[in-house]
Amino acid sequence: MKINIIGGGPAGMYFAILMKHARAAHEITIYERNGPDDTFGWGVVFSGKTLANLRAADEPSHAEITRNFEAWDNVDVVHRGEKISIHGNSFSGIARLRLLKILQRRCEELGVEVRFRAEVADFDSLRADCDLLVAADGVNSLVRQTFAEKFRPDLSVRPNKYIWYGTNHLFHGLTLTFRETQTGVFAAHSYKFDQATSTFIVECDAKTWNKAGFAEMSDEETRAYLAEVFAADLNGRPLLSNNSKWLNFLLVKNGRWSFENVVLLGDALHTAHFSIGSGTKLAMEDAIALKECFDENPDVSSSLERFEEARRPVIEEYQAAAYESMLWFEDARTYMHLAPIDLAYVLMTRSGRVDEGKLRERDPHFVDAYERVKGKR
Ligand SMILES: Cc1cc2nc3c(=O)[nH]c(=O)nc-3n(C[C@H](O)[C@H](O)[C@H](O)COP(=O)(O)OP(=O)(O)OC[C@H]3O[C@@H](n4cnc5c(N)ncnc54)[C@H](O)[C@@H]3O)c2cc1C
Repeated sequence: MKINIIGGGPAGMYFAILMKHARAAHEITIYERNGPDDTFGWGVVFSGKTLANLRAADEPSHAEITRNFEAWDNVDVVHRGEKISIHGNSFSGIARLRLLKILQRRCEELGVEVRFRAEVADFDSLRADCDLLVAADGVNSLVRQTFAEKFRPDLSVRPNKYIWYGTNHLFHGLTLTFRETQTGVFAAHSYKFDQATSTFIVECDAKTWNKAGFAEMSDEETRAYLAEVFAADLNGRPLLSNNSKWLNFLLVKNGRWSFENVVLLGDALHTAHFSIGSGTKLAMEDAIALKECFDENPDVSSSLERFEEARRPVIEEYQAAAYESMLWFEDARTYMHLAPIDLAYVLMTRSGRVDEGKLRERDPHFVDAYERVKGKR
């Protein structure tokens, strides 16, 4: 089979790896507009369950990924300067660039052709030239936009602002930090992803953002302002920029996932708010699911139909949980009156996926402490 893939991110590369590994005769080409060392952002997070899926799908890349991991089991909630730790949550972090390098090497090893600095604009020619065209071209997918009548995208620009920084202060856990200032409430999502660096994403509502005057600030001024807000949490360390810009989260869904020989994959197909992790996880698990459909039946149109049928319910359930989490952060200011332990409890149960029973299984000490405090009131 001849497969063309637009986008050399986790979705596109991982799908190429799995298909080529399954059948060396497949002729697979990835078109990527950036160079092999260009990337945005800092680290990404995987849960323990995702790692098991990656191991089952492709041992060699799993081994490389886990060799480069920073792992932890705690979520830390910091409010009014007090840190509450909740254990029993298995997560690992890796630099996005390192992950891409591992996938690039595996593509090369298997004989997948990756064409860097190859921006695709003529999607019709590319799809006419292959049996299957995979559009793994990210959240702002031009393929999705070009064939909007077929995919029927449902896009929602969310009101909160966020910016993705790094820092050399190490956060030894998935840390959610809240700082109330005269301007408004700022939340930071942070975690280490190698031995020297953590991701540090700052989020605030539009009212806070306007009041702070970020629209008029330079990148430098913005960084200095936020480093000051979180000075105690960063231990005085600066925030590091990687061409970091304020963004509004774009929630992506699609009425149809494929037409003829074209299919959307990863962020082009769906997004889930970063507060629940993890676009990379979903992108790579999409690749596994699509490859499994080809294992069952190599016919392109039935595989694409089967992919949507099997994967849509999983994605919808995940997006529903991520939606609740996103709304929680959009309303964060309404929870700031809570005591730190109450805030931690509400946060841990915000997506509706974790109830008291599940939380107790993960960390009985935390639930006991919470109940003791509640009982005393
Ligand atoms: C603030 C923030 C925090 C995040 N945190 C996490 C996290 O903790 N964990 C996690 O797993 N994920 C996280 N993500 C999400 C993650 O970055 C994406 O979900 C993931 O990269 C999706 O993979 P993808 O392959 O679908 O798309 P991408 O990684 O976006 O790859 C798409 C690729 O397509 C290329 N491309 C696009 N158009 C064209 C074209 N016309 N021609 C050629 N090439 C093209 C792009 O250059 C890009 O390399 C976060 C995202 C944000 C914004």
